[in-house]
Amino acid sequence: MQQLVFASNNRHKIQEVAAKIDGGIKLLSLDDIGCFDDIAETGLTFSENASVKSNYIYNKYHLNCIGDDSGLEVDALNMEPGVFSARYAGKHGDHEANMDKVLEKLVQSANRKARFRTVISLIWNGAEHFFEGTVEGLIRYERAGARGFGYDPIFQPDGYDITFAEMSLDEKNRVSHRAKAVEKLVAFLKSVEVGRQL
Ligand code: IMP
Repeated sequence: MQQLVFASNNRHKIQEVAAKIDGGIKLLSLDDIGCFDDIAETGLTFSENASVKSNYIYNKYHLNCIGDDSGLEVDALNMEPGVFSARYAGKHGDHEANMDKVLEKLVQSANRKARFRTVISLIWNGAEHFFEGTVEGLIRYERAGARGFGYDPIFQPDGYDITFAEMSLDEKNRVSHRAKAVEKLVAFLKSVEVGRQL
């Protein structure tokens, strides 16, 4: 079976991607390949950060791999938090503080428009390909729901009256930014010679 390294150890993300790939390709995490390096996200765009990760793994291990970067863009905040989504309030991964910061900054704003964006960089047989997905929505005034991660409790996708954190994983997987980028990735993998085994 073909293998693809996902340059991440975030189990939520790996689960989401594995569900879409549907068993046709074995997805490996960084832990699975014994990589414990801290790959710095030095880019100013999602594409740059995705590319930094995939190239790091490819150059070190010579394995097919994907790197991704995602985040929340809020129109009234000049597209912040953007590439700083994980560390918006200062401490990396402090989702509660990050949500508080967004809610506080938007307290006077009637414009709640926002989107999640994902960019995936795939290195397949030495060539790099990019896939992007977005989901439009709005920022709620208060948190709702306990599922998911990150900004899920305050993000309501267009066409729904519940937040990402109130959706099942399956439901979120049908509409999320990551799902859309992964669908494009999977379509690509199916279209290349080796991927026909999918
Ligand atoms: P990453 O680059 O995919 O690890 O995402 C960076 C940050 O963006 C995360 O730490 C979250 O704060 C936010 N984020 C990305 N995707 C999602 C999502 O699906 N739900 C909620 N927050 C997300």
